[in-house]
Parts: sequence; structure tokens; C-alpha cells
Amino acid sequence: MNTISNCPICDHDAFKLFLKGKDYSVSQEFFNIVSCNKCGFHFTNPIPSEAKIGAYYKSESYVSHSSSNKGLINKIYLQVRKYTLKKKVDLVKQFTKSDGLLDIGAGTGHFINACQSKGINALGLEPDEDARNYGVSNFNVNVKDINELHVLKDNSRDVITMWHVLEHVYHLNRDVEKITRILKDDGKLIVAVPNMNSYDAKIYGEFWAAFDLPIHLYHFTPSDIEALFDKYNLKIDEILPMNFDSFYVSMLSEKYKGGNLMRAFWNGLLSNIKAKKGTYSSQIYILSKK
Ligand SMILES: [Zn+2]
Repeated sequence: MNTISNCPICDHDAFKLFLKGKDYSVSQEFFNIVSCNKCGFHFTNPIPSEAKIGAYYKSESYVSHSSSNKGLINKIYLQVRKYTLKKKVDLVKQFTKSDGLLDIGAGTGHFINACQSKGINALGLEPDEDARNYGVSNFNVNVKDINELHVLKDNSRDVITMWHVLEHVYHLNRDVEKITRILKDDGKLIVAVPNMNSYDAKIYGEFWAAFDLPIHLYHFTPSDIEALFDKYNLKIDEILPMNFDSFYVSMLSEKYKGGNLMRAFWNGLLSNIKAKKGTYSSQIYILSKK
């Protein structure tokens, strides 16, 4: 286990315990989430070493998202993915010019595939070899190893996307710094992450599925996103809701809690109804250089 001694956002060195949560999907082990005494940022601490984290991703349901059609949650997931893919492509299309799009954490390549089919010049980077191979052999997508990130040229991409990826990144500041340099001066960085300030996060507490311990290293609020990217001279232009995440997260949270699906549906709905700007279950942040 690695103990984090400085806050990834403000570098302060004193934290308090926020909650002890369980890894419900793989190991059933418990992990701590701490909050920084100075800036209030919440992060998992300690975390498994980078070499050991792979084992915590090996949940059957995680793998089956890409292919299996079994189980109610997976069925819904696949339908929603189809719809949200279209929304994502519509969003990025308006910002993508000839220098194209870079998707970090491309997974099995569904998003890159959807971009390519709309004529967008798109490159994906993904650390997991199995996921990369799935994308390349199933839809011949342009997805390469994540280490390619460090050889991409500065000021070379119109749009960089990170769909539920930032919360998994080990070298947060190093990678954000690099990503900011790759982005063109008039480019857009699009980051989607779960929101700790959401209604579903508050009602599920330690059972909130989007804590996803230990693979979610950080648990962002909108002000954390603002503070992190401010260090690299980026500002938030717009925050968009991801309306389906509250349902999906509530379903998983109810499962962990031993609750029921009807309540999950109700809480997912309430989360969206109660959400004001900045308090949706998961949000898309559109950022640009100052
Ligand atoms: Zn801090």
C-alpha cells in the first residue's frame, strides 16, 4: 500500500478520516477516504501500489460491460451507453477541427469508434492491453498504449476527453500538466467524473457506488475540479449533467446496501430532480486555457 503524504491538489500534509468504505465489487477489503485539512479535497489513502491495482479491476461485472448482455443492470448499461455515446459525439463534434481528438482511457474503444464513424480524426490511449485488443479486433479503432501520451506533441489536439478516467490516474499532476500541454491554445478539455456533492452521494454515504474503492483514487466536487485545473491555467467554461449516472450509481449502491431496485430508481430520479447546476451525480466539465 502507498500512503499519500501530500494533498494532490494543494500539497498540504494534514488530513482527517472522512469515511471507511468497502470494495464491494472485487476484494471486499476496506479503504479509507480522507479529506485535506486545508482545501477539503477527498481522496483514497492509503492506496494499493500502481503495480497491484490491476487486480482490483478484475471484477466480472466490469469485464462483462464490454460484451455480455446478461443481467438487468448490464442490459440497462448497454442501452444507456448507446444513447450517451451519441450525446458525447454530438458534444465533441462542435469543438473538433483538423487536429482532432485525443481520448485518454479509451477502454474498449466504443467512443473512438463512434467518433471515427462520424468522420472525426480520433486517437485513443488505454493502459489495459485486453481492452485495447478488444477495440482493435472488434472495430479496428485507433487505440494505443497509454505511454504514447508522453510522446505526443505539445499544442497538437483540438479536443482531449477523459470520460470517468481522471479519478483513476496515479500521477495526477504530472499527467494533467502533460495533457494541458498537448491541448491546443484554443482547444477544449472535456472531463467527466462522479460528483461527491450529489444527492445520491449524500444519501448512500459509505455505500455510494461511485466511491468505487480502491480504484477511484479521488472523489471530486466541482470546486476541486476548478482548483486542480486552475494550477495549470485552465478554467471551467461549462458544467453539463450526466443524467443516467444517478440511476446506475443508485442501482449499484442499493445492491451493496442490500436494498431494492425500486428505491434505486426513485433515488436516481430524486437525485436528478434535486440537482441544481453543479450537483448532478456525475458531471461533464468543459475546460479551456485562460
Ligand atoms: Zn488540499
